[in-house]
Amino acid sequence: MERGDIDDFGNIFFLHPYCGFCKNYFFDEDEFKRHMNVEHITCNVCGSQHKYVYYKDYDSLETHYKISHYICSDLNCLAKKFIAFRNAEELKIHRTEAHSAGNKKYIINYIELMVNSFVDLIMEELSLNKSSRSRTRKVLICMISFCH
Ligand SMILES: [Zn+2]
Ligand SMILES: [Zn+2]
Ligand SMILES: [Zn+2]
Repeated sequence: MERGDIDDFGNIFFLHPYCGFCKNYFFDEDEFKRHMNVEHITCNVCGSQHKYVYYKDYDSLETHYKISHYICSDLNCLAKKFIAFRNAEELKIHRTEAHSAGNKKYIINYIELMVNSFVDLIMEELSLNKSSRSRTRKVLICMISFCH
């Protein structure tokens, strides 16, 4: 009865842990837990409350964040991943701390982001090559730093 057995109704049942995402069986609990922790993710916001709920990948977790939690919609935070909060109050505190107008780091990140998308736009318009891309980027950053 190592891999499962046939029950009274002739159905095969398995005794080993099963990953529904990968459709794989695992030898024992330890191996299964290791697999889940490496290949799949739990919600850091739910924490120990829902210890055994796993998400297939970050996209699934992000969907869960949007439904059950308060995800920071800032582009930098979305890119960083795992920036979600239990309630509106926590999100508000995060936004004041990380994204308030006075926060220098945030402004710099924001400028970088704008410059990159602006350069992409120019690139498309003029079909510039790679080296002129980084040059255009430098010039733009200088220009924008002046304005601030
Ligand atoms: Zn899996
Ligand atoms: Zn959660
Ligand atoms: Zn944020």
